[in-house]
Parts: sequence; structure tokens; C-alpha cells
Amino acid sequence: MYNCRKCPGFCCSYPLIALDKRDVERLARHHGLGFEAARRKFTKAVWGRKYVMRQKADTHFGKICRFFDIKKRCCTIYHARPGVCRSYPGDGRCGYYDFLSFERRAQDDPKWVATTDHK
Ligand code: SF4
Ligand code: SF4
Repeated sequence: MYNCRKCPGFCCSYPLIALDKRDVERLARHHGLGFEAARRKFTKAVWGRKYVMRQKADTHFGKICRFFDIKKRCCTIYHARPGVCRSYPGDGRCGYYDFLSFERRAQDDPKWVATTDHK
């Protein structure tokens, strides 16, 4: 139904990627840091959430998760990624991938990057 390997990683560009304490602990362990150092370096407290993933600039989507490889279009911390990234988008369809597949067929370009915003 969807193939993340063929996708430019739209879901990693969501502005609100909320982590919990265990996610931050996992990131800290993965990087050999203490909890506080990892919290400061990788997350920020916004929208009433304690730990929201920090972002960086991206040519396609404007901003994207700081752990996203913007050239290879994949996660650089796959085994240490937060719970929300593990469960998304579930067993069903990915709405963005449906849109992407439609656009790629319409453009006759298998590498077309379809953009949209998060509203
Ligand atoms: S937007 Fe959908 S297809 Fe693309 S990486 Fe995320 S889950 Fe996979
Ligand atoms: S941690 Fe990895 S999978 Fe999760 S949003 Fe960041 S780049 Fe994407």
C-alpha cells in the first residue's frame, strides 16, 4: 500500500513530532549522552509538549526532523527512532503516499516529489 523507501519522507517533516521520556532516554543512550544533554540538543518544549523533535531546513518540505538525511531521504537513527515514528502510519494506507503515487503517475516521473503543507 505504501513504500517508505520510495518516499521523500513527508511524515518526517511534520512540525509536531512528540516524544516521551523513554524516547529521549533512547536518544541519549544512542548518542552516549545524558538525559538533559539529549533533551536540550534534540528536543524543544512547544505547544504544551515537553519533548518535541527539533527540525532543520529541507529543500522539499521547508523543515524536517533533525535526524533525517536530506540527501538519501531516510532516517539516520532508525533503531533509536521515537515510538511515534515506529507506529506511523499503522497497518493501513499512507495518505501522502497515495497522493505521491498519483502525482508520479500524472507527471510520468517516478522520482517526482509531491509537496503539500501540514494543514
Ligand atoms: S509519508 Fe508515508 S510513505 Fe512516506 S515515509 Fe512517511 S509513512 Fe512512509
Ligand atoms: S526520528 Fe527518523 S523516522 Fe522519526 S521523524 Fe526523525 S528522521 Fe523521521
